[in-house]
Amino acid sequence: MSRSQSTQRFDLAVVGAGIVGLAAALAAARRGLRVIVIDRDAQANGASVRNFGFITVTGQDRKSMWARACRSREIWRDVAAAAGIPIVHTGLWVTARRPESVHVLEAFMATEMASGCRLLSPTEARRRCPQLVAPEMAVVLESTTELRVESREAIPRLAAWLSGAHGVTFMRETTVRGIDMPSVHTSRGTVQADRVAVCPGDDFNGLYPDRLGAYALTRCKLQMLRLADPGFKLPGALMSDLGLVRYRGYADLEAAEPLKTRLAIEQADHLKHGVHLIVVQGADGSLVVGDSHHYAATPDPFSYEEVDELILDEFRAALGIEPPPTVERWIGTYASAADRPVLIDAPEDSVRLAIVTCGAGASTGFAIGEELVSSLF
Ligand SMILES: Cc1cc2nc3c(=O)[nH]c(=O)nc-3n(C[C@H](O)[C@H](O)[C@H](O)COP(=O)(O)OP(=O)(O)OC[C@H]3O[C@@H](n4cnc5c(N)ncnc54)[C@H](O)[C@@H]3O)c2cc1C
Repeated sequence: MSRSQSTQRFDLAVVGAGIVGLAAALAAARRGLRVIVIDRDAQANGASVRNFGFITVTGQDRKSMWARACRSREIWRDVAAAAGIPIVHTGLWVTARRPESVHVLEAFMATEMASGCRLLSPTEARRRCPQLVAPEMAVVLESTTELRVESREAIPRLAAWLSGAHGVTFMRETTVRGIDMPSVHTSRGTVQADRVAVCPGDDFNGLYPDRLGAYALTRCKLQMLRLADPGFKLPGALMSDLGLVRYRGYADLEAAEPLKTRLAIEQADHLKHGVHLIVVQGADGSLVVGDSHHYAATPDPFSYEEVDELILDEFRAALGIEPPPTVERWIGTYASAADRPVLIDAPEDSVRLAIVTCGAGASTGFAIGEELVSSLF
């Protein structure tokens, strides 16, 4: 710790430099507050750099996440421009192969969440993207709202911009061991702060473990792939029928029940491994493809070929092409809770704890950061 960090008092200390912590830092810095962000890693290494970088509005949980995603998307657009973060592509195509999926999309179109969306016939979809040749494609939901960033580059740039343009102080390779307001005890000394935002991702045993113990949290492990450039440009992020029973904005609609029944018979293995399809494209043309969902307190760190094959099987069915060669594989984990998509708690008057528990932190983090700061100041 530098001498100035030990003597200076901050308005806000943020624990965790993932997207949620950076979002809280941004919201506070925009109010002119003095902010320090403390993270145990030398650079971002958690869910925030392992994800698709897919800032999804369409399909988010209607009750509590859709409005947050709308707000976060606006902030991402502004921040990306200011921080020099490329928006790699925009929009989303949800391709439906089954009549039951078409009904879900039609029901979705009748809701307020369909703002910015329309249905495309297969003819129109193929005119726009002739390389999508899946013979079973029945309809495509097109949304123009989504954004995509390359997270492994975007998160470091966001942190650098917070430091350079907003004067946010970063303490890296530093674990926060305890909070005794106004003292934040770290592995490298004590930081003084009037308020603290704890944004620890899926670390439930470090700070306030008793408090977090009441929330029945677990972790979700996801397998991810990067495929070589297929030689054409996607019209946006792509999803398929399986996404309609996983993303709550569709899955909670009554119209989704017949699709759930049919998929339970036809794609039981995919459902068993929590596989659904998201395909996004990078600036170099490569495709990030996933994912699977396995839940455990400590998920194993291994990637299973059988699961990757299920993901690629859905890729073939939805796009109608052979997947290009796999060039990278990785796993990521995020916090999960069955009964809530986000946890915001106040263990003390001047401390907030925030954990996104549904795997949508890239899409909703900026709104959650604003909420944290509003409730603290
Ligand atoms: C494979 C994968 C794909 C995903 N795809 C998407 C997607 O496309 N769109 C989307 O919206 N969401 C997606 N998500 C979810 C999203 O990435 C997460 O919800 C989000 O990144 C969580 O951000 P976070 O800041 O809470 O956690 P993290 O990114 O995990 O950051 C938490 C940070 O806190 C630090 N920390 C914890 N405790 C301490 C301590 N005591 N002291 C110091 N530092 C500490 C850690 O070192 C870490 O850097 C995906 C997640 C995964 C894993």
